[in-house]
Amino acid sequence: MRLSRYFLPVLKETPSEAQIVSHRLMLRAGMIKQASAGIYSWLPLGFKVLRNIERIVHGEQARAGHIPMLMPTLQSADLWRESGRYDAYGPEMLRIRDRQDRDMLYGPTNEEMITDIFRSHVGSYKDLPLTLYHIQWKFRDEMRPRFGVMRGREFLMKDGYNFDLTKADALHAYNRHLVSYLRTYERMGLQAIPMRADSGPIGGDDTHEFLVLAETGESEVFYDAEITELKFGDREIDYDSVEQCQAVLEEFTSRYARTDETHDAEMFAKIPEDRQRVARGIEVGQIFYFGTKYSEAMGATVSDGEGNKVPVHMGSHGIGVSRLVGAIIEASHDDKGIIWPEGVTPFHCGIVNLKQGDAEADAACDALYSSLTALGLDPLYDDRNERAGGKFATMDLIGLPWRITVGPRGLKNGVVELTSRRTGESEEMPPEEAVQRIS
Ligand code: ATP
Ligand code: MG
Ligand code: MG
Ligand code: MG
Repeated sequence: MRLSRYFLPVLKETPSEAQIVSHRLMLRAGMIKQASAGIYSWLPLGFKVLRNIERIVHGEQARAGHIPMLMPTLQSADLWRESGRYDAYGPEMLRIRDRQDRDMLYGPTNEEMITDIFRSHVGSYKDLPLTLYHIQWKFRDEMRPRFGVMRGREFLMKDGYNFDLTKADALHAYNRHLVSYLRTYERMGLQAIPMRADSGPIGGDDTHEFLVLAETGESEVFYDAEITELKFGDREIDYDSVEQCQAVLEEFTSRYARTDETHDAEMFAKIPEDRQRVARGIEVGQIFYFGTKYSEAMGATVSDGEGNKVPVHMGSHGIGVSRLVGAIIEASHDDKGIIWPEGVTPFHCGIVNLKQGDAEADAACDALYSSLTALGLDPLYDDRNERAGGKFATMDLIGLPWRITVGPRGLKNGVVELTSRRTGESEEMPPEEAVQRIS
């Protein structure tokens, strides 16, 4: 993309309404624009990051054998009356009446709708196990929408639902989700720690939240410092293996790590003092096992092969896709701007032309641009007629991992400059070598 043809409305001033760094940087980098309280338009740069996060989520869900689909944002109130949650959900639910006077709602989550789909089409244990998911906008009329996309009212969530014959099978699905989530967050360059949590209005006993440690996080968390040394990394896992998934769950949940809702001061005190940590975290996902809560209420049963009709065991599993954009920035920035991890960066690198209009510099930039795109990379070429300082500031603000700086002086010696956004280190090299380093 050539910056002169793109839409990147960066702000010079720091917006005063933004209280935390990710919100400020998202506004300044022209990623989002507030449409109304807690509701945002995703401008091109922000939209690219959102799509990258979705792509990683889809990829990891596919690996785990979970099946993508899409349910609508608007739901009928009748389904929620069946589960009993129409009244129980309270004022966070946006209720709408259509012209026929039917009660509708903008879905805050989809347990009821997916259970209805399941009961309409599945009747036998032979069709289990089954895990369906979608990535769809949700609406929750939060009391205090704030921090930009971190606590929006309209937000994008991946929500998945497993259907299993037995509790043991459903717990395997739970473990499978835990593993796939660990991989998902790591691919985004994030450490998200699974912590024992409270199930809230979803219901159920078994639940873990995934938290990214950050001072601006809304949850208070208590954990054993050892847990931050754990990495899933690139180990192989067989998602069908009950033992392998269980082993990962045990490895990642055996040390003390809880949110304030489930915190147990006595247990915490037993951790060696130098490893006790009290901090804040951003909830970027949660997994639940809730058994037959919805299947019983809504009659989602299957024949068990022995002549009985039994309610299926279920769980639901959510990732805060739009919140993650903010969470990644909270975890990765400096005073100049965002520092995107490679996995989610909106462009792979920036090309800065120090002397737009200089025939040699223009030609070198064009050549770089072509080589990079030929390799399947997506560069952002700053081809505007601007001062170098302004171009550098924009690149630093939007946080692309690499910058290639091209100017007549370097070109005389056959070199361009390659700069890492994370370390700030620059190195001169021939253009071909810069391309190679990035790819
Ligand atoms: P919170 O505790 O932050 O209100 P939640 O526990 O109510 O979140 P879940 O029902 O667990 O949320 O939804 C799954 C994920 O969706 C959360 O882990 C979070 O990452 C994301 N999420 C929830 N509410 C919002 C929101 N208002 N804005 C952005 N993302 C959200
Ligand atoms: Mg909530
Ligand atoms: Mg929560
Ligand atoms: Mg939650």
